[in-house]
Amino acid sequence: MQKGTIGVTSENIFPIIKKFLYSDHEIFLRELVSNAVDATQKLKALASSGELKGETGDLRVKVSSDPKKGTLTISDNGIGMTEEEVNKYINQIAFSSAGEFLDKYKDQLNNIIGHFGLGFYSSFMVSKKVEIQTLSWKEGAEPVKWSCEGDPSYEIGKGKRKERGTDIILYLDDESKEYATEEKINYLLSKYCKFLPVEISFGKETEWKDGKQVETGKDKIVNNPTPLWTKKPADLKEEDYMSFYRELYPMQEDPLFYIHLNVDYPFNLTGVLYFPKIKDKIEVSRNKIQLYSNQVFVTDSVENIVPDFLTLLHGVIDSPDIPLNVSRSYLQSDSNVKKISSHITKKVADRLEEIFKNDRKSLEEKWDNLKIFIEYGMLTDEKFYDRAEKFSLLKNSENKFFSYDEYKLLIENEQTDKNKKVVYLYATEIQEQYSFIESAKNRGYDVLIFDSQLDSHFVNLLESKFKDSTFMRVDSDHIDKLIQKEDKEKPAITQAEERDIANAFEAALPTGNHYSVSVENLGETEPAVLITRSEFMRRYREMSAMNGGMNFYGSLPESYNIIVNYNHPAIKKILALKTETLSNDISDFELKISAPEKELQEINEKNKGKKEEEIDVAIKENKSKLEKEIEEINGARKNLLSSFGKENDLLKQVCDLALLSNGMLKGVELDKFVKRSLTLIS
Ligand code: ADP
Repeated sequence: MQKGTIGVTSENIFPIIKKFLYSDHEIFLRELVSNAVDATQKLKALASSGELKGETGDLRVKVSSDPKKGTLTISDNGIGMTEEEVNKYINQIAFSSAGEFLDKYKDQLNNIIGHFGLGFYSSFMVSKKVEIQTLSWKEGAEPVKWSCEGDPSYEIGKGKRKERGTDIILYLDDESKEYATEEKINYLLSKYCKFLPVEISFGKETEWKDGKQVETGKDKIVNNPTPLWTKKPADLKEEDYMSFYRELYPMQEDPLFYIHLNVDYPFNLTGVLYFPKIKDKIEVSRNKIQLYSNQVFVTDSVENIVPDFLTLLHGVIDSPDIPLNVSRSYLQSDSNVKKISSHITKKVADRLEEIFKNDRKSLEEKWDNLKIFIEYGMLTDEKFYDRAEKFSLLKNSENKFFSYDEYKLLIENEQTDKNKKVVYLYATEIQEQYSFIESAKNRGYDVLIFDSQLDSHFVNLLESKFKDSTFMRVDSDHIDKLIQKEDKEKPAITQAEERDIANAFEAALPTGNHYSVSVENLGETEPAVLITRSEFMRRYREMSAMNGGMNFYGSLPESYNIIVNYNHPAIKKILALKTETLSNDISDFELKISAPEKELQEINEKNKGKKEEEIDVAIKENKSKLEKEIEEINGARKNLLSSFGKENDLLKQVCDLALLSNGMLKGVELDKFVKRSLTLIS
C-alpha cells in the first residue's frame, strides 16, 4: 500500500469544505451519483464508437447503504479508473494553487465545487472516511483501491473489484449517520436524481404476498431516465404533458396550458412549462419551476433567474449552459442566464399568441384563471406588455370576451365624451354595483369586469397605455357625468337653497364620512338619491391599502358624492314639504341675514384693494362682528334643516334606498329602514 498527500497546495481544503458547505451538505449524493452517471455514459459512448469490445452488461447505477455500520455506497459499471487516473483525477485536484483560489472565493465555494472538479470531495462533508474501489475498462487494467480519512493524506493500492466500474464507499461521520437511512436516501434521490439519464436503483421492489408487503428480487428504479422534456414535441400528445405534470406535482390540479421549450441556438435549452390554475393567491404557487442541467437537478428557487411573473409558472427548465453549483447572485449576473430568461418570456408570449389565434375559445374558457398571471407580467415587464396587448382579453359584464382592439371598436362610438375621450366603464362587483351597471346599459354602454387582486394597478396601466382614454368605475358618479355628452341644465335653485337641501340630506346619512352633496337634474326615471365615490380617491385608497401602508389618501375619511335628483317625484315631494314646514323660518333667516350681509358687502367694497394693516381698527372690529352674526344665522339655519332631514321619513327613506343599493345600509339602520318601510306601505 502506497501513501501520499492529495495534490492540493493548501492543507486546509477539508476544513473549508466542511465549514462552508454546511448548509448544502446534502448535495454530496447528487455529486457522486452524477459522477457515476457520467462514467456510465462515457462507457456507452465507447461502446457505440466501437472502442469497447464486447457486451456492456448491466449499466445501472446502484445506491446501497448499511444504516448499522453507517456506510453508503454508490456503484456503477462505467469506465472505472486506472491507478494513473486516480492519481490524476482524484489526488491532484484539478486546478493549481487551490489554496490561494479558495481563500479568495471562500464565499462562493459552492460555485467552485463542480466547476473545478471538487464534486467528489463533497463526500467529505458527511464522511470520516471515503474509499474508492475501481477497475478501469481498459484492457489489462488492475483493480485499484483508494482511501482517505478527511485530511490531505491518502492511501492507494491494490483493489478488489472484479468487474469494470467504480464503488464509492462513504463511512459517514457521527453527525451524518442519517444519510445511511432509507428514508433520507429516498428523499435525496427523488430531489436531485429523479431525472438523471441512467437508471438508478436503490432497494428492492416490494409486492403484496399473503397479506404482507415483501421484497421481490427486483431492483427498485428510483428515477425516470427519459423525462418528457427530452423527447421530441412531435412524438408527444396532450395527455403525455398532463401526466408528466402529475409526476412533477402529484397534488396539484391540472394545468391550463403547457409550453414545450426546445432551443439549440444560441444556447441549449429544453423544458416544459405549465400555466397552473391560479386563483387569487399569487404567493402560494411560486417557486415550482425546477432548474436542471443535463437532467441533474440544480435548484427550485428560480426567482432572479426568470422574470418575476414567470415564477408563477410550473415545470422544468434544463440547460447545460446553466452552471451546476452556483449561488443565486452569480446566476443572476450570468449572461447565459439572462438570455435564457428573455427567451423564455418570448416563448411564453409566442405560445399565448398562438392559442389566441388558433384556439380562442379555450383561451376564453381559461381566462379567469390565466389572467392574473398575464396581468402580472404586463405590469412588471414592458416587453411582455408589448406582446400581450395583442392576445390579452377584456371581459364584460355579460361574460363576453374582447381583444383590446375589438373592445375599442365596440365602444368607440357610444362611449366617447364631449372632450373626445373614450370612456371605459368597469365594475368590480356585479352584485354590489348592479344598479350602476344597469343604468350604464340603459344608455347603451358596455361595462367591463375588473375583479382581480391586481386590477386597480392594471386599470392604471391600461389608462396610461390607451391613447385618449379614461377608465371609470360605474359607481364613481352618475352615468351621464361619467360620460359627459353635453352640459346638462342645472336645476333653477339659488345657492342658498342648494345648501339647505345639502344640509338636510347630509343629516340623514351615516356620520363619520365626508359628503359633498349636489342637486342635479337626472331625469324622472333615475334614482332619487345617488351615492358615488370618486374614481381617483378610490383608486389611490385601494392601491395604498395593497401596498401595505396607509398613506395620505388612506388616512382620509371615506368621501362620497351625493347627487339629489331634482326631477324625481319623491324629491319634489320632499322639497314641497320643506317649503310648507320651513318657509316661514327660512324667510325669517333671510330677513335677519340681509342687513348684516349688505353691510359687510359695503365694507368690503370700500376697502377693496387695501392691505390688512391699512384698514381702520374700528372697521375691522365691526367686520368680524358682522361675520360672526352671519355665521350664527347660517348655523341656526343649518340646524333647522338638519332636524328636518333627520325627522322627515320620506327623506330618510330615499337616502336609505341609496345606501341600500350601495351595500352601505347595515345593522340598526337597516332594521329601522325595514320597519319604516312597513309603516309607509301599510
Ligand atoms: P467533476 O466530476 O466535476 O470532474 P469530481 O471531483 O467529481 O469532478 O471528479 C473528478 C474526476 O474523477 C472526474 O472528472 C472523473 O474523471 C473521475 N471520477 C469521479 N468519479 C468517477 C466514477 N464513478 N467513475 C469514473 N471516474 C470517476
